[in-house]
Amino acid sequence: EPELAGDFGTIMEWADTHRRMKVRTNAETEADCRMALSFGTEGIGLCRTEHMFFDADRISAVRQMILAESEEGRRKALALLLPEQRADFEAIFRAMAGHPCTIRLLDPPLHEFLPTGDEEFAELAQATGRSAEQLKRRAAELHEFNPMLGHRGCRLGITFPEIYEMQARAIFEAACAVAGNGDAPVPEVMIPLVATRRELEILRALVDDVAKAVFSETGVALEYLVGTMIELPRAALMAGEIAQEAEFFSFGTNDLTQTTLGVSRDDAGRFLTTYVERGIFPRDPFVSLDIEGVGQLVELATQRGRKSRPQIKLGICGEHGGDPASIAFCEATGLDYVSASPYRVPIARLAAAQASLRDGAK
Ligand code: PEP
Ligand code: MG
Repeated sequence: EPELAGDFGTIMEWADTHRRMKVRTNAETEADCRMALSFGTEGIGLCRTEHMFFDADRISAVRQMILAESEEGRRKALALLLPEQRADFEAIFRAMAGHPCTIRLLDPPLHEFLPTGDEEFAELAQATGRSAEQLKRRAAELHEFNPMLGHRGCRLGITFPEIYEMQARAIFEAACAVAGNGDAPVPEVMIPLVATRRELEILRALVDDVAKAVFSETGVALEYLVGTMIELPRAALMAGEIAQEAEFFSFGTNDLTQTTLGVSRDDAGRFLTTYVERGIFPRDPFVSLDIEGVGQLVELATQRGRKSRPQIKLGICGEHGGDPASIAFCEATGLDYVSASPYRVPIARLAAAQASLRDGAK
């Protein structure tokens, strides 16, 4: 693992004495965690659990779960995934040694999990004892024209609660197992793509029920938080209401930029290059936060969230969390932390310190 040694390490330590905001990382593997820790991260701001589902050994069970026709079928496939997820989280909690870990429940556009091609359907048919035709019919039912605006995030958790139940169980079982040997983890369970208070109320109750069950089974009780991403304009507008159910907000500025600008985060490419050349946007808004527009939603949600719940913890975990100009905006807005990919942790530490100095915050 690289270390921040020598003069660079010293400068980073000086920077830290001037920094108000915490710097977390976006990480989902033990290797990412170790790397980010060596760069000075203070916790995980976003663990995208869907990445764990794409593992070659697990994708069959994931597909069985998605294409099951009944809750029972889904539960059977989820039972195969539970030990694997538990091991994922144990490794992360161990590596992060008591630093806060925000674990986001599943948020893939569903189509990413569907089998493609006859061969994959045939394999799945063999594994499930269902016919390839049956599986294809089910896949067709789940097909969406705009999956990024569709059945993803908390919408999956509402329609198939057993998926989030499995993940919450894996999180709490792992946390309880790790708690015995030293630094007790404080899991922060994060619900994605929330637009309404009611969604969060339903899913928070689900998480609390699982936590209670696991604590009583293991005889270990742990502190934990439940919070949400703010990544839809409606969520930003309704932040006061939503904060009633959330102990933290994390701004998902990738989706918030996409949904506020009405520009696809996956396809913007050449059209945005022209826009930047023509001065319509000062920079690519998916790289450097559109402070004029998206920034207003972040500020509004910060004000409304804090008014409704003064102790609410606020961070950002979109790509902008590693961009110096966006970090300066986060400092000015008063967020508590930024979260950046492991390699951008050092630049985030520096940028946060510069922003604090500029604002006279510390
Ligand atoms: C976001 O939308 O900004 C975010 C961090 O989540 P993801 O990139 O996984 O959609
Ligand atoms: Mg998102």
